[in-house]
Amino acid sequence: MSDENNSGSADEVTRDFIREIVHGDVNSGKVASVVTRFPPEPNGYLHMGHAKSICLNFGVAAEVGGRCNLRFDDTNPVKEEHEYIESIQEDVRWLGFDWGAHMYFASDNFDQLYEWAEHLISQGKAYVDDLSAEDMREYRGTLTAPGKESPFRGRSVEENLDLFRRMKAGEFDSGARALRAKIDMASGNINMRDPVIYRILNAEHPRTGDAWHIYPSYDFAHGQSDAIEGVTHSICTLEFEDHRPLYDWFIENLPVPSTPHQYEFARLNMTYTVLSKRKLMQLVTDGHVSGWNDPRMPTLSGMRRRGIPPEAIRDFAGRIGVTKSDGVIEYAYLESCIRDFLNKKAERRMAVLRPLKVVIENYPEGQTEELDAINNPEDEGAGVRKIPFSRELYIERDDFMEDPPKKFFRLGPGREVRLRYAYFVTCTDFVKDDTGEVVELRCTYDPETRGGNAPDGRKVKATMHWVSADHAVDAEVRLYDHLFREEAPGSTSDNFLDDLNPESLKVLTNCKLEPALAETAAGAPAVQFERLGYFCADPDSTPDAPVFNRTATLRDAWVKAKAKVKG
Ligand code: ATP
Ligand code: MG
Repeated sequence: MSDENNSGSADEVTRDFIREIVHGDVNSGKVASVVTRFPPEPNGYLHMGHAKSICLNFGVAAEVGGRCNLRFDDTNPVKEEHEYIESIQEDVRWLGFDWGAHMYFASDNFDQLYEWAEHLISQGKAYVDDLSAEDMREYRGTLTAPGKESPFRGRSVEENLDLFRRMKAGEFDSGARALRAKIDMASGNINMRDPVIYRILNAEHPRTGDAWHIYPSYDFAHGQSDAIEGVTHSICTLEFEDHRPLYDWFIENLPVPSTPHQYEFARLNMTYTVLSKRKLMQLVTDGHVSGWNDPRMPTLSGMRRRGIPPEAIRDFAGRIGVTKSDGVIEYAYLESCIRDFLNKKAERRMAVLRPLKVVIENYPEGQTEELDAINNPEDEGAGVRKIPFSRELYIERDDFMEDPPKKFFRLGPGREVRLRYAYFVTCTDFVKDDTGEVVELRCTYDPETRGGNAPDGRKVKATMHWVSADHAVDAEVRLYDHLFREEAPGSTSDNFLDDLNPESLKVLTNCKLEPALAETAAGAPAVQFERLGYFCADPDSTPDAPVFNRTATLRDAWVKAKAKVKG
């Protein structure tokens, strides 16, 4: 399907430069069938940055009737684990993409890669180097100074083959030798200064076990794996731009079955968070968060647990687009995508987070009635549900003031408000405890206003949410704020951990939920707690003690707070 004439559906993605190239290659007939891939290294959980890459790779392939492979670049056995391989698949699927039968591993190609390494040796284009890692670094030179040739660079093909085979056989200690491509130690591009293509690592690999004592470098495995898979457009982030000449060199010097082309785009950076597996790993291992799926984490598993819908992430990825220059996206922009989606889709419920007891004095004791509540005013199809009303209720503590100023329109002594879907009530009195805190309101209700409208046409200035005390479900509610208090964590000190927000998690207990929420399972779509925000059930919930996470506030409190400080 050509999207040329698309009339601006919500899902429409603007034509970025990558899409221009891919669509152009299809239209010109240069490429018959487009193949892209998403190539994670299984050494951590996927984050928002990966989501941008996933949406791009799977998205563009789908637009032109091509396919996108999921490929694990698993060349470093020391840091890679099955747990990550599993979580990556789960996260990509959750985000809404399907690789069909096309899941691959760089480790599937270890035999072929080894053969190609021998091929380079036999062509005089690779050699075994005995320099220590430290010496090798020194010989490498700098951005301004050329490198120096290793004294082992002149080894004969026979000697190189013999040593390389013995490396493979496990005759040497880890790191004792390395196989290097013989390119140009004086190249202006450091990546071309005889890069290491195989290293000795006497380590077990999650998939190949102890079969190998040598492992290909990421740079040697990556492009060749693309070629083996028939990847036509090898899309990656800008930091690999300088590696492209090396990848092209391998492709030119090896009998590969196809020639992928690499295109680079700017990685995603966001305010108030970090998008680096290394840093996210540190947050987990140092216990600053409860795990990779802590709802404050920018990981896909954290965001899923937080109740963020995959549709909102895909929408965000489409809206921020794909460019060639690095930038930082406001976290608030993601939140606005989340709110846009949830406002339309989330069912409404009533919950009171900081309860204050209300007794309706003229309502018969022991009586309960069922009132109709609209599930989603944005979606008629969502229907209505029943909510119980009775003599004792909870309202939000913030919705009452003993001595309200003029602009406070909610409840105060002598004031009348509407209880949503129920009645008009008037506060007649309040009860304080020993410390002077108001602990209970006494009110009367007007039976004529059932459903929330007065037949005499009188108006009230506030409509408040409430929960029937006898029917309420007690819950724990976890409120989240930015994980970091600085826009760019680590910018004011060297350590990004210094910028952790000590108030990123606030736990409220004894919250009161309407009964329908007792059945909300963990993993179910987020709902809107009226007037409070979007919330979802957390997997920590038990049948007797539900736990809810705040997915997002209704408005951006952070921007408001900052504006206040500035103003
Ligand atoms: P990190 O920097 O978090 O450690 P990485 O680049 O090492 O990530 P990989 O597993 O190699 O992680 O990434 C898989 C793919 O996702 C790569 O193609 C990479 O370019 C892309 N990717 C990683 N981070 C981002 C990001 N912030 N924005 C866009 N794409 C990203
Ligand atoms: Mg990487």
